Amino acid sequence: MSLPDGLQVLTDLPLAIDPDEVLRFQGYKQGRDIPSPAVRALLDEALARGRALIEPRAVVRWLPVTALDADGLTAGGTRLAIPGLDVAWGPVERVAVAICTIGEPLEREVSALWEARELPLASMLDSVGSGAVESLAEHVNDLLCQQGLAAGLRVTNRVSPGYGAWDVVEQRRVFELCPGAPAGVTLNAACFMTPVKSISLLAGAGVAARVDHYFSQCARCWMRGCAYRRAPARGTVHA
Ligand code: SF4
Repeated sequence: MSLPDGLQVLTDLPLAIDPDEVLRFQGYKQGRDIPSPAVRALLDEALARGRALIEPRAVVRWLPVTALDADGLTAGGTRLAIPGLDVAWGPVERVAVAICTIGEPLEREVSALWEARELPLASMLDSVGSGAVESLAEHVNDLLCQQGLAAGLRVTNRVSPGYGAWDVVEQRRVFELCPGAPAGVTLNAACFMTPVKSISLLAGAGVAARVDHYFSQCARCWMRGCAYRRAPARGTVHA
């Protein structure tokens, strides 16, 4: 089986939001900070509201990699300057470019709660949105891994513009390679995405791609019986 051609527009994704991830956005350190019963109740209310408001969707495009070196890669005729990528990924022949979003309804509800001065709930719901879009990026990364394995390729973990050494201005090139419009995501002159709860990402694929140091990806992947699993599942981003 080969990798899918053209743009994949993914909608109605069965996304599970990780409560620990939400608390992390609230400043809680996992295994160290224990939320009070009041915070738990607020979290439960925000999760219930958030689950009804998120609209997870993504656009994905696989492309051949025509050059990969210490300063980045070239794909689809576009050069992306990602320092250290060749070491992090090892040899990759294909790259997936993806734009993910949970849509705007949750952001609108957060704004309404701020205006109503319901500040604790507004803050917790905003963190639910942040946790949801992180879970969505992992969900898409796991889907890419499953597509890669079906094509006989290992798939790396994701990288995103604005994280690590990759300059956020490269977001424009990412959007040239994979338009966000089919998922309803736009980019402004300052390279910020709308809706705000959106993530763009790249993952590489290759027969000998380096995956030995990526464990978090498998830890929340729902694929049962995967012969390539690198860490036991400790939860899932699949509802
Ligand atoms: S368990 Fe790990 S290797 Fe297997 S499909 Fe999921 S992310 Fe990929």
